[in-house]
Amino acid sequence: MEIIEYVKKIEDKLSGYYEYINDIALYNQRKVLNAFRNNNVSYRHFSQTTGYGYDDIGRDTLCKIYAEIFKTEAAIVSPLLCCGTHALTVALFGLLKTGDELLSISGKPYDTLNEVIIGKGNGSLEEYGITYKQVELCGSSFNKSAIKEAICDKTKVVFIGRSRGYEFRDSISLEQIEEVISFIKTINCNIVVMIDNCYGEFTNKSEPTEHGADIAVGSLNKNIGGGLAPCGGYIVGKKILIDRISGRVTSPSLGMEVGSYAAGYLSFYQGLFSAPTVVGSALKGSKLFATAYSNQGYEVLPTISEKPNDIITAVKLNDRDTLIKLCKIIQSISPIDSNVTPEPWSMPGYDCEVIMSAGTFIQGASIELSCDSPVREPYILYVQGGLTYEHIKIAVIECLKEQFGDKIR
Ligand SMILES: *Cc1c(COP(=O)(O)O)cnc(C)c1O
Repeated sequence: MEIIEYVKKIEDKLSGYYEYINDIALYNQRKVLNAFRNNNVSYRHFSQTTGYGYDDIGRDTLCKIYAEIFKTEAAIVSPLLCCGTHALTVALFGLLKTGDELLSISGKPYDTLNEVIIGKGNGSLEEYGITYKQVELCGSSFNKSAIKEAICDKTKVVFIGRSRGYEFRDSISLEQIEEVISFIKTINCNIVVMIDNCYGEFTNKSEPTEHGADIAVGSLNKNIGGGLAPCGGYIVGKKILIDRISGRVTSPSLGMEVGSYAAGYLSFYQGLFSAPTVVGSALKGSKLFATAYSNQGYEVLPTISEKPNDIITAVKLNDRDTLIKLCKIIQSISPIDSNVTPEPWSMPGYDCEVIMSAGTFIQGASIELSCDSPVREPYILYVQGGLTYEHIKIAVIECLKEQFGDKIR
């Protein structure tokens, strides 16, 4: 059949799933709208500020709105946190002291955290005498007995990466997170549980902080920036912990009393307001992509029945050339830099070549349609984002056309 017809048939089959996503987006839109209304957001909140930024109402109100959305006592949101990695780093350095141990219970944290935790000669946690242990997931479940064994007197922070990131595994559900946190708290109620929430925001009606997490951290280049925030990160959670961390964001003597932003805050507010819909589109597009490839016999994640906890689609292509070809197609149908041809290259921090496509308005923003993959067996394509559902649909059509020609079975 024609590719267009093939995609239309999949869309019809996914209508129930799309309704499920629309319902989540509606719920989150109301939550965000109410947070804006409860904080009386007006034009003055978008103002540019300079210098120290004392009483910067745009910054302070944005923090309050995030705290309301995540149902936490406090929040740090700032363009001065340049990305998710920076926010995660600051949070870890705020929470951990010499002699403490960090325990990851979802296997290896996201790639960019490796050097933060165990880097040599670069001011990593390890160099400050903070030790690190890791418990692997069992398939997509937490390994409770290994977690219990790994927790010791030194364990101060337990780390959970919610998204699959660039691992070929399921994302972790909020039910799993809630269960494992209560398990950890029965072992030692003083352990701080911190969630890497990158890619997870607004994929459900609630956030990990409503399921027992003490701290959640994320990137404004992803879901919650809504594709409009020009940069930034956030850290939300218990006030006593956020206060400690805010001393690391700026200085222990200043905390979040300072920090100006001469470009103003409009796009942070507007991006947050758009984020529930943008995430909804990305989730629908992700399922479309996954289903179109699954029906052609490829192993994909999320599986057809998986409820979403992140916006990533992974397709196991088993072929180097196909991987590179599809990355090139996605770049070529991007609104920005469509004339650029991505090539595999050796990126710092990776042990193999990586290929990336990001024809995005905000540089590298992966809430926009983008893909990136380590170029190694089994040649898995990781695609994510899309500001509009229609753009992702066009991408799916063009990828299928490139690979299968005009007709498909
Ligand atoms: C993207 C990402 C990060 C890092 O965020 P940046 O904004 O790219 O620094 C951390 N963890 C996960 C799971 C991510 O997807």
